[in-house]
Amino acid sequence: MAVLVQKFGGTSVADAEKILAAARKAIRAKNDGHQVVMVVSAMGHTTDELIQLARQITDQPPARELDMLLATGEQVSVALMAMAINSLGHEAISFAGPQLGIVTDSTHTKARIRSISTDRIREALNNGKIVIAAGFQGVDPAFNITTLGRGGSDTTAVALAAALGAETCEIYTDVDGVYTTDPRIVPEARQMKQISYDEMLELASAGAAVMHNRSIEFAKRFGVPVHVRSSFSDKPGTLITSAPESTARPVCGSALARNEARITVLGVPDRPGVAHRIFSKVAARNVAMDMIVQNIAAEGKADVSFTVPRDELAVALKAVETSLGELEAEGVTYDDAVSKVSVVGMGMATQPGVAQTMFATLAEKNINIEMITTSEIKISVLVDRQQGVDALRAVHQAFRLHEPPPPEQSEISVRPRSGLSQEMLSRLQGMEDLVIEDISLDATQSSVTLHGIPDRPGLAARVFQEIAAAGIVVDMIVQSVGRQGRASITFTVPRGDLEKALHTTQALARDLESLPPVGAWNVAKLSVFGTGMRSHTSVAIRTFKALAEAGINVDVISTSEVCLNVVVDGTAGEKAYEALKREFADVMI
Ligand code: ASP
Ligand code: MG
Repeated sequence: MAVLVQKFGGTSVADAEKILAAARKAIRAKNDGHQVVMVVSAMGHTTDELIQLARQITDQPPARELDMLLATGEQVSVALMAMAINSLGHEAISFAGPQLGIVTDSTHTKARIRSISTDRIREALNNGKIVIAAGFQGVDPAFNITTLGRGGSDTTAVALAAALGAETCEIYTDVDGVYTTDPRIVPEARQMKQISYDEMLELASAGAAVMHNRSIEFAKRFGVPVHVRSSFSDKPGTLITSAPESTARPVCGSALARNEARITVLGVPDRPGVAHRIFSKVAARNVAMDMIVQNIAAEGKADVSFTVPRDELAVALKAVETSLGELEAEGVTYDDAVSKVSVVGMGMATQPGVAQTMFATLAEKNINIEMITTSEIKISVLVDRQQGVDALRAVHQAFRLHEPPPPEQSEISVRPRSGLSQEMLSRLQGMEDLVIEDISLDATQSSVTLHGIPDRPGLAARVFQEIAAAGIVVDMIVQSVGRQGRASITFTVPRGDLEKALHTTQALARDLESLPPVGAWNVAKLSVFGTGMRSHTSVAIRTFKALAEAGINVDVISTSEVCLNVVVDGTAGEKAYEALKREFADVMI
């Protein structure tokens, strides 16, 4: 009999009536011939209330005791759910995390799942019971109760689905599915029928608050189909699986991360090890950096910009400010009033012109772009917070995301990656361990850098319009703000197009009265592919460390959920490739 996992979030079990409604859904699935495992969150805002309660006692509750407290929220709802099922004439049994056999590491309040022993669940299922599992919690090897981080019930659900080989993991929530953007901000947003794991991962980290990111990492790693749907209707929702809804359109969705902050470390020496030192300082304070831009330096100096969540600005800033001497930096600037707008889609890997359309759209609205980063399937820009919503709306409209995608033109040529093979999985120690899937070296590109361009709306649009008009397809793009209202843009192009790209940008630079473009014919792009590259902050740090130790300077950086790219001098390409392969040998699969 096929196992079906059904997860109900806090709003779906907020009161007795809703608990009974959820119970009926599970019974229906059972009557349809499934073995049903329900994963339940704490009722309504219980978790927030428990945190408030702890704060009334102390500002700094010990993490172990916070976990002990928070885990009670889910215990309440599983017990009530089991009672509800019983009252409707069916058999059910509730289990808390430790009883479920969910073993985690000991990182209280954000523990990672190591293993799940499913014997007890299987036995209950085989006895005809509906199993009610407490989401969000587990137990460490020393029997301490742990929690998986806010929103962690999604991760429990997908992890159980993986461990039980479930046919699907249904996520019941208060929205109908995954939308092309947040419909509360853009009412014409469209519900997608399907989205790929990679796109969902990127959208989630770009600000779409649909699911716990680690749950999608799980789903991708173990190839679990996830169905996000409404708990208040029977309408089909959105299927998250290995293939996208369509590749006929380059962009599938867009997102806004409203509360971001930018930090720029000014005038650091442009030599190996600088990126590594900055990132280790910030990571040491447990702050995850998001958009990272280091432009090729002018006069031997580089500016390194990165974004952090606004509420972590103070901590990150302190980390940098207290080490300015050690970093040999000239200073630091920040902006705490920025938002990040991103577009995501597997189709953009094969269809050029997405960046250009995005920049042109923002230019038309007179919205200035402070920072740009791109990856294979995502483009992010940083804009003034006041303009974030307008920017999102404009971009959503420009890519016509409110309309269903046109039918597929061709075979999907991007590689849809599904679950790891059994052989690969058997080599994992913990279910959420970092796994590097591939490291690649691309020695076919050149780079172009424009320094000292005026920082005002429409300039990126103009650069890439003219580059496109010259028939050049651009790969990576980064832009950062510099001093005195000047910006730098670096992009990579196929080597055969370097001359044309320089020619085009020379004319542009003359026109803008900025510095002449600098071309580097021989650059090497190294990419490290994996899953959950952001939540495993060690990937960026280890990459920078390995390159620094090999004496290799990093020219350009871009990061995403599924890939970390760095550009280095072409003559160091092979050496960098070997250094990265050595560094990640223990986690390569
Ligand atoms: N109750 C936990 C929270 O609110 C876990 C969850 O809802 O997924 O974060
Ligand atoms: Mg929740």
